[in-house]
Amino acid sequence: MEEQAVFGEVPNYDYGEYTFINNVHSTVNGDGMEHRNSTIITDPFEKIEGNERQVLGTFSHEYFHNWNVERIRPKSLEPFDFTHSNQSSELWFAEGFTQYYGEMLLKRAGIYELDRYADVLGNVINSVLNTPGAKKYPPVQMSRYAVFADAGVSIDANNNPNIFTTYYQYGAATALALDLRLRAEFNLTLDDYMRLCWQRFGKTEKPYTVPMLQLVLAQLTKEPAFASDFFRQYVYGIEKNNYEGLLANAGLLLRKENPGKAWAGPLFNAVGRSRAGQAHSAQQNDGLFIATSTIEGTPIYKAGIDAGDIILTADGQEVKDQKAFNDIVAAKKPGDKLLVKYKNRTGEHEAAVILEENPYFEVVTFEKAGKTLTADQEAFRNNWLQSKVK
Ligand SMILES: [Zn+2]
Repeated sequence: MEEQAVFGEVPNYDYGEYTFINNVHSTVNGDGMEHRNSTIITDPFEKIEGNERQVLGTFSHEYFHNWNVERIRPKSLEPFDFTHSNQSSELWFAEGFTQYYGEMLLKRAGIYELDRYADVLGNVINSVLNTPGAKKYPPVQMSRYAVFADAGVSIDANNNPNIFTTYYQYGAATALALDLRLRAEFNLTLDDYMRLCWQRFGKTEKPYTVPMLQLVLAQLTKEPAFASDFFRQYVYGIEKNNYEGLLANAGLLLRKENPGKAWAGPLFNAVGRSRAGQAHSAQQNDGLFIATSTIEGTPIYKAGIDAGDIILTADGQEVKDQKAFNDIVAAKKPGDKLLVKYKNRTGEHEAAVILEENPYFEVVTFEKAGKTLTADQEAFRNNWLQSKVK
């Protein structure tokens, strides 16, 4: 119902029906695949009971696709050619805007509490402000990278954590900023924009390109300069919107999640070798094996520690798993030095990691942060996040 309220109508489905098929089994890999008149969703749970919210997130996302992608359709996807990968510059819109609505409409429908939705917003914003991919590459380029990332499998080593930011989250962050800016600067909404895209491209089944999306924004706002700036800066470019200021309009506070806490940087896919049960010889001491590139700009990266290294000790204490490492870091302060002993194929090494403050953000309500929520902020928030079903 909330999805229908965004577009004002449902498409004409074959045989007048839209069908959901949900396969729930504990041994499967989760997935959702949209089609024009149906969706198949696979959930890795034993049963739906107790997992409704997670299940509904995928339903909400995939169903939004029956407008955005199945009918509001990027020109680059057609005609289908199964002999090549289909590279597309539009996934920040096709998947990213769908990602934004898939979550936000659960708030409008009353399935997410405001606090839960604020957590979602924090994750979306971190993905655009705190990933090396988004610092270097624009949403259109991350979209084109999909053929290497979304179900693309590489058996070679890669540097994906430093060169790719998922267009789902990047696009959702773009949608969030555009929605809040349309509301704050034009008294319009992203719903108005989606409805106009539906009229132009969806109902008519006339596939779009990125310049056509910009044109619709210019028509909606009646300010071509705003549309061209927005696309130049945030779609073709790597500038970032002022999320803190935009969220404040709705009485939401963007702040550091762990202020004053020491941080070395994330270690993705790091495993304690004994725990992972990997075969290792007697000469190999157990330690924390780093399987994936460390993240550019983080303290551990700056200290030269990277994929393939095995952390043995930190400040003289044994590091057998990620928790042990995190505990040692947590006992220190930003600016402190951490002496890390590690080994790799060139032997044993020592590095000084200069710890920094954790840069990750969270979003909380003004009420929770002890700030006053003004009537204007409350009205802005309600217009944005309250049910649109009449
Ligand atoms: Zn999708």
